[in-house]
Amino acid sequence: MIVVGAGPTGLTAALALRHHGLPVTLIEAEPADRARPGSRALFVHGQTLHRLGAIDPSLARRIAEYGLVWRTRRTLHGGRQVFQRSYPPPPPGTLPPFVSLRQVDTERFLLDACADAGVDIRWGTPVTGVDPGRDGVTVHTADGRRFDAPYVVAADGARSAVRRAVGIGLHGPRARGFHVVVDLADDPDDPLPPARTLHYEHPGIGRRTVMQVPFAGGCQIDLQCRVDDVPEDFATADAARDWLPAVVPAAYRDRVLWVARYQFQQVVADRMVDATGRVLLAGEAAHLFPPFGARGMNSGIADAAAAADALAAAPADVAGAVARYAEQRQRAARHNRDAARDALRHLRPGPAMRLRQRCSAALAPHVPALGRWLETAPYGPRSGPSPESRY
Ligand SMILES: Cc1cc2nc3c(=O)[nH]c(=O)nc-3n(C[C@H](O)[C@H](O)[C@H](O)COP(=O)(O)OP(=O)(O)OC[C@H]3O[C@@H](n4cnc5c(N)ncnc54)[C@H](O)[C@@H]3O)c2cc1C
Repeated sequence: MIVVGAGPTGLTAALALRHHGLPVTLIEAEPADRARPGSRALFVHGQTLHRLGAIDPSLARRIAEYGLVWRTRRTLHGGRQVFQRSYPPPPPGTLPPFVSLRQVDTERFLLDACADAGVDIRWGTPVTGVDPGRDGVTVHTADGRRFDAPYVVAADGARSAVRRAVGIGLHGPRARGFHVVVDLADDPDDPLPPARTLHYEHPGIGRRTVMQVPFAGGCQIDLQCRVDDVPEDFATADAARDWLPAVVPAAYRDRVLWVARYQFQQVVADRMVDATGRVLLAGEAAHLFPPFGARGMNSGIADAAAAADALAAAPADVAGAVARYAEQRQRAARHNRDAARDALRHLRPGPAMRLRQRCSAALAPHVPALGRWLETAPYGPRSGPSPESRY
């Protein structure tokens, strides 16, 4: 089998294929010593930990031990707290309900597990095309080589060359505007509280909404910009240093690790599998969502595990298993897109939603359910259409 792309989706697909005893070559465009930027996908859902644990129990344990489990969630509106809840620590010896760590750390653990499992990785080898046929797929790389395999898992990200080569389109809305992601390194002399904080209409940043998400070793600050905001005012390192003191102690201006601008896309591939049934799309090669609800990397890992399960079916059953993969994972992708769209409506409210939020915030001290709604709504619904279609 060939997997294209060594992001979290491709690494998981390769590992899961090895878990099923199948030989796998993982082809990655970038060199082995590449530096992946920023914290990106921090939140690893419990369901993802269990999925990874089914492939390699020690991998799930290592990620869980390294990651941070915050035990307090707070929501504020216009400077006033409307919700707070703290939780007991997860029972020892169990996987936690989630962990928070930088995507680069998750990828490091996945890569180590791939090395232990004997995945053959070809770094620095961009894939330029694929030729699927009745009996298998030929993969062409930029250095003029060809690789043959019965099936290919395309996990080569949002600009997937494989998806384009097999003529599958991505469709869906691309929302206007952007949000800004800033990573801060922990200050050991003045550590930030290990709480996830959502602040609607923060009075210190022109009533923009801001979220503070701790991770192992630091904290990610997400600022929702307005549609008419310009990146130079918020999304450069200098601009971030200007607005950060409204959110965190001023000393954190000197602890900026990464500043990125993130645009919202809600797109899903027309099909998850090509016409021959031999090229399976997975992760961001197949779908892009706004990050609320942490559906990007988590759903890519779910795709990867499901793709490997399908390819591990008995030879006579693989075609049917691949067809089921296509159907189930596209349903999951559409569910995730819709859930992330709902979340976006809360974080970038129109006038009616803004009014509802303000009324809920005003009444929350007397009606706790309204505070709970302000806390949970921005992540979209928790459940999926079926367990296998969740994330
Ligand atoms: C600012 C930001 C915040 C985010 N926050 C979250 C979050 O909180 N939670 C969440 O779940 N997700 C989040 N995401 C999304 C998450 O980062 C992605 O969903 C995740 O990286 C997708 O993984 P992937 O493996 O599918 O694709 P990628 O990580 O893009 O990996 C694709 C791989 O394929 C390689 N490649 C590309 N082209 C080729 C080629 N032609 N040949 C060979 N290799 C190729 C690339 O080099 C790369 O290694 C965030 C993203 C950003 C940018």
